[in-house]
Amino acid sequence: MEQHAFFEGKIVPFGEAKISIATHGLNYGTAAFGGLRAYWNADQKKLFIFRPLEHYRRFLNSSKILAMELPHTPESLKQITIDLLRADGWEQDVYVRPLCYKADAGIGVRLHDLRDEVSIFAVAFGAYGKNEDGAHVTISSWRRIDDNIIPARGKISGAYANSALIKTDAIRAGFDEALVLDQNGHISEGTAMNVFMVRDGVLITPPVWDNILEGITRRSVIELAQNELGLKVMERSIDRTEAMICDEMFLTGTAAQVTVVTRVDHRPVGDGKMGPITAQLRSLFSDAVHGRLPKYAHWNVAV
Ligand code: PMP
Repeated sequence: MEQHAFFEGKIVPFGEAKISIATHGLNYGTAAFGGLRAYWNADQKKLFIFRPLEHYRRFLNSSKILAMELPHTPESLKQITIDLLRADGWEQDVYVRPLCYKADAGIGVRLHDLRDEVSIFAVAFGAYGKNEDGAHVTISSWRRIDDNIIPARGKISGAYANSALIKTDAIRAGFDEALVLDQNGHISEGTAMNVFMVRDGVLITPPVWDNILEGITRRSVIELAQNELGLKVMERSIDRTEAMICDEMFLTGTAAQVTVVTRVDHRPVGDGKMGPITAQLRSLFSDAVHGRLPKYAHWNVAV
């Protein structure tokens, strides 16, 4: 199997996709990325990309925030991804990484009058975290970037230095992941995942205005919770201490999938084991991405 990349307008061998150390996006973080998964269906011997149009809509919105005018649509990027995955010939689960970046080489921080490029590559991908069925999270001492600082709504490369500070401190302190508070002291999300909690049978997640990335997994889980489990879902701000007293908690993301949180800062979530709503949503989500739910077949796009 030879790995490829979409680079400067065409699909090339992976090793040929190289940029200069002077690239604007590398020096100033003036880039934005996406992250999709494609799942290998062993029965049908086919790869299925999960919700590529939704991912590429968000990707193009991030590029818009960075004042890019890319010659792409969600459909064209979906097709490039299909072509790329076909060229690679994967027969396993993969993670797809689109990136748009300010491509000029040179000094001078700005967004305008710079060339924009898009690259896409795929890598083999299994589990993301170590404890996906029993994570111990902390509340980070770092704060989440604000919409008026670097918008969390855009998946902006430079903003991930914030996530990286949060993640490394959490891991070095012995936790699996961290939740981070926004400037108002509300829980926004994890380093690369959205957060949900259950209180009295209601599924609660921070609203899009609490400095979160508008996650595709988040949206999918909300749909599954409402339509398949008939759950009440509330998008509302979450206080720090609610994380300590909620009945269930989980994190969602393309990489993390539905990761169960069983401890917050050394306090058990509920009885310290995976709760029933989390367990059901986890298995529904896994069924959906693997194409086992006919009702949601439109979420899976064959390569
Ligand atoms: N929040 C952040 C900061 C992320 O980086 C991600 C991963 N893309 C998510 C949430 C989850 O988003 P999604 O479900 O679309 O992968």
